[in-house]
Amino acid sequence: MSVVLWCTSCGREKNPFPPVARCDRCGGILDYVYEYWMIKSPYSNRRGMWKYRPIFPPISDENIISMGEGGTPLREAKELAETMGGGRVLLKDETANPTNSYRDRAASLIVSNALDSGAKKLICASYGNFGASAAAYCARAKIECMIIIPRNVNASKLAQMYIYGGLIVRNGNVIDDAIAEAERIADGYYQATPELNPLSVEAQKTISHEVLEDCRNVDLVIVPTGTGNTAYSIWKGIKECLALGVTDHPPRMVLVQPDGCATLISEGGKVRVRRVEKTATAASPLVSLMPAYGRLAAQAVEESGGVVVTVTDREIIEAEKLLAKAEGVFSEPASAASVACLRKMREEGLVDPSEVAVCLITASGLKDPYVIDALADGGRRGVKSRGGFKTKFEILRFLEIGESYGYEIWKFIGKQLSIQAVYQHLGELQERGLIEEYYRGRRKYFRLTQRGRRVLRALEEISLIL
Ligand SMILES: [Zn+2]
Repeated sequence: MSVVLWCTSCGREKNPFPPVARCDRCGGILDYVYEYWMIKSPYSNRRGMWKYRPIFPPISDENIISMGEGGTPLREAKELAETMGGGRVLLKDETANPTNSYRDRAASLIVSNALDSGAKKLICASYGNFGASAAAYCARAKIECMIIIPRNVNASKLAQMYIYGGLIVRNGNVIDDAIAEAERIADGYYQATPELNPLSVEAQKTISHEVLEDCRNVDLVIVPTGTGNTAYSIWKGIKECLALGVTDHPPRMVLVQPDGCATLISEGGKVRVRRVEKTATAASPLVSLMPAYGRLAAQAVEESGGVVVTVTDREIIEAEKLLAKAEGVFSEPASAASVACLRKMREEGLVDPSEVAVCLITASGLKDPYVIDALADGGRRGVKSRGGFKTKFEILRFLEIGESYGYEIWKFIGKQLSIQAVYQHLGELQERGLIEEYYRGRRKYFRLTQRGRRVLRALEEISLIL
């Protein structure tokens, strides 16, 4: 076999499967290494991320779970560049993935391997993006998906995980707690947590392959950084492109962190990893008290001649708005940190406008009240039903108790609306596949669908946090 798992600390080699994160001898992070000279071409004839299958550990054909992840656009951001004094700025737009985040890449490879290994149940710790991806891919693979999340995961991501059928368990305040819990109860489960499964790196490294194929003269890549798993993946991809002759101009790695959670400190050409005790930032996916891939991320910065930059939440939010207005890309705050970082570096003269910069946009800002959207009236029929959202929520709750018919539902709602308005809501809920009708005798009854139950569960969870 031309691929092994190799310890990045002591150099010990292990079999590639099952994918294990840490060396049992020294605790170092394990990473896949290939005999690159044996790979004739890094490309297969597939599209998207699986194009790079020759540089993945082997997965059987019939178990590949793919939903069109990867192959995302590298967008020229002219207006954004203008606001920073010109030059070339490119956005690697990962919001274009199936569940709107770059984690779909990791989920595709990891769930495929889970299927390959005969797993029936999978566990992962996540701040939401990977959880949503894993739940979606597991739904396709018919594998049970348990997701351990810390508190304060945002409502929209919760909704995404629920609707795909994920089982959600809360543990602790930050991702570090959730990871520890996923590790603790892993028995009988396939371990899918990106920080505990080195296949995440293999999948995410394809981002760099795509970027450097689309533009060979990139000077710096800016990566929002929490646990360091993504940053290391990007650097690994760049090094592979060098090894495989895709580029001879490796870009510098610039890692950006919120100043409320700065675990990597640039000092001269070196980077120090430190534990923080408290964090304060709106960019929750970037919160980690002690980054699991910190040392490797630091190494990436040092080897590439890059730097670690911190930005404030205010700078992040401004960048998010600017990105949407100037380029039509709606990103979540953690992603906008890359744009905030470039702005800051340009202002401080750390980057010359002649240098080509790529900002990694990891996930969509549309990971927004998806479920609430699904219920909103939208005015499509030109009829405004009063209190539309609340009424629909109440109807779903009532139908959860048992099936019912129009008049009874109307009585339950409190008769504040006309019975016609109640029927209108019922029609809209039906259109969205949340309830279904059937006849008993001559009377039309309504009941919740499977999807309706999931949406209701998500809404109840959301109403607890709001
Ligand atoms: Zn080791």
